[in-house]
Amino acid sequence: MGSIWSVRRARATHLLDRTPHASEILTFYAGLTEVQERVAAQVPAAEWLALIRSPESDSPWLRVDTLPLDGLALPFREFLSRVADLGTEQIREGARTLLSGDDDGRIDPLRNALSSWREPELGRGPNPEGEEVEEVESLFGFYARAFLDPVITSIAQATSTHDIASTPETATAQTSALPNDWTRNSCYVCGGQPQVAVLRDLSESIGHRSLTCSMCATEWRFQRLTCPHCGETEAGKLPVHTAESIAHVRVDACTTCSRYIKTVDLRKQGNAVPLVDEMAAVELDLWAQEQGLTKVRTNVLGL
Ligand SMILES: [Zn+2]
Ligand SMILES: [Zn+2]
Repeated sequence: MGSIWSVRRARATHLLDRTPHASEILTFYAGLTEVQERVAAQVPAAEWLALIRSPESDSPWLRVDTLPLDGLALPFREFLSRVADLGTEQIREGARTLLSGDDDGRIDPLRNALSSWREPELGRGPNPEGEEVEEVESLFGFYARAFLDPVITSIAQATSTHDIASTPETATAQTSALPNDWTRNSCYVCGGQPQVAVLRDLSESIGHRSLTCSMCATEWRFQRLTCPHCGETEAGKLPVHTAESIAHVRVDACTTCSRYIKTVDLRKQGNAVPLVDEMAAVELDLWAQEQGLTKVRTNVLGL
């Protein structure tokens, strides 16, 4: 098995032919994973882990907001020059704009992303009326996120050399070893929000549900009948939506907070790579938007 980037790329390429309406998205994403893989190779993961590690027994394990911006500047510039050859004209143009700026201005998107990392805890109740809940990710926010993904994933993987951490693509078999006492709605490694939920059968737990981190791909156990945004547990308020065309991906919605997350059922499609299959099932996002639902966390492409 290759790196998680090549696993994702292979899955995106595989799904490309089968999901024509998502082919543009998946083609771009497959190219992006190559650029991300290069970033991952540049990250001195062990060194930076030591630098940003939280004090003993603190969660999340990483204080991502203390990542060394100086050390990120050069890899980010290289990342941008590669992205300038990929994607839509808007994405190319944005990359060129950042590249043409001065060194300090160029890392502004990273600075913003890191300083807003510790967002207030996700809601534990309905949003107050009138509150703007939609998360707007600017174009520059896309570059920061697409770049920080491999940076943080590499560091998160380095934690697994002396701690238990697991990513779905590389350590499925270790899932049963995940901490059982962590059942919050944010990642215990980096504090990121969940991207997608995953269902699988484990020997000791049939229909085990976990959440996958949107930033470092760590998976952690989460209660089945619970909204990962507001904590709603009443079954009648947690409708599920499926589409005939994609049996293994569904929408788990919550009528209390009007959020949704997609769930990838590995029991129905054992070869699925949750973060990629989530992205490919874009018609479910369109359906959810029509229902007035907001995604718990948009994916790296802002969908
Ligand atoms: Zn994480
Ligand atoms: Zn909710």
